[in-house]
Amino acid sequence: MYKGRFAPSPSGPLHLGSISTAIASYLDAKSNQGLWLLRIDDIDSTRTTSHFTKMILKQLDDLHLHWDETIQYQSKRLENYRHYLDSLNEIKCTYICNCSRKKISEQGELGIDGYIYPGTCRLKSNLMHRNNSIRIITLDEMITFEDKVQGSVQQNILKHCGDFIINRSDEIFAYQFCVVIDDYLDKITNVIRGSDLLESTPRQIYIHKKLKFDIPDYGHIPVLNFKNKKLSKGNGDHLDINNDAQKIWLTCLKILNQRMPNKDLSFKEIIRHAIEYWDIKKLKKIKSIDVDEHIQT
Ligand SMILES: [Zn+2]
Repeated sequence: MYKGRFAPSPSGPLHLGSISTAIASYLDAKSNQGLWLLRIDDIDSTRTTSHFTKMILKQLDDLHLHWDETIQYQSKRLENYRHYLDSLNEIKCTYICNCSRKKISEQGELGIDGYIYPGTCRLKSNLMHRNNSIRIITLDEMITFEDKVQGSVQQNILKHCGDFIINRSDEIFAYQFCVVIDDYLDKITNVIRGSDLLESTPRQIYIHKKLKFDIPDYGHIPVLNFKNKKLSKGNGDHLDINNDAQKIWLTCLKILNQRMPNKDLSFKEIIRHAIEYWDIKKLKKIKSIDVDEHIQT
């Protein structure tokens, strides 16, 4: 059965970019008679707050984006993450690294996500974990997948980012690692999210394979740009959701290039129409869209 999810990080309220992602994943799930789960990515407590979690839940409710099953919180899954980190340690595909950022920047070349780690600590065996990070050993092989929106994607993670961190030196688990465990535990079959995560998907597929988990289908929708910058907290996030949920839906449907409903439909009918006519193939195969015309400042 189709199971999709929306996984916001509560470091601020939802903005038009995250809302269009929520709507796209919701519509893809509902048009496939699937379930749509909500997961709060609150693992990094230095950046997230329960205040923003409450705000996000209220925003989703106002937008009639009603989730199925109970909400999952990354902050409540530390035992699970530790368990699967142990599994990776047992199959000997991890190692401890004590390189500083400065050292890596001096030795490595710039890759798709910061400096490519040159593997300096791979052969050191006597390091303790405390205050050091844990990396996963990557292989010189191509990872290929078919993205539902962006088409065929290929990447050699050893060449483009090197052995990457799964547990940071402050012992916070890395996003790349948690998201894999979460999608496995939540039995997610389809991931619809922003294209800013497209290039990290091969790393997640790699972890899925190492742990022998089923790999979900992925679809990466264009992220929204406002005045040539990616929409983010504090940049073009000033649409008033409480007052105009219907207007936001219509704006998002337009941005997502979907068939527009008649003007005289009620809010609930608009949503029903959007589910009925949702067509993921209509999404533009591009990484970003300018939305200046949709946002009044
Ligand atoms: Zn190192």
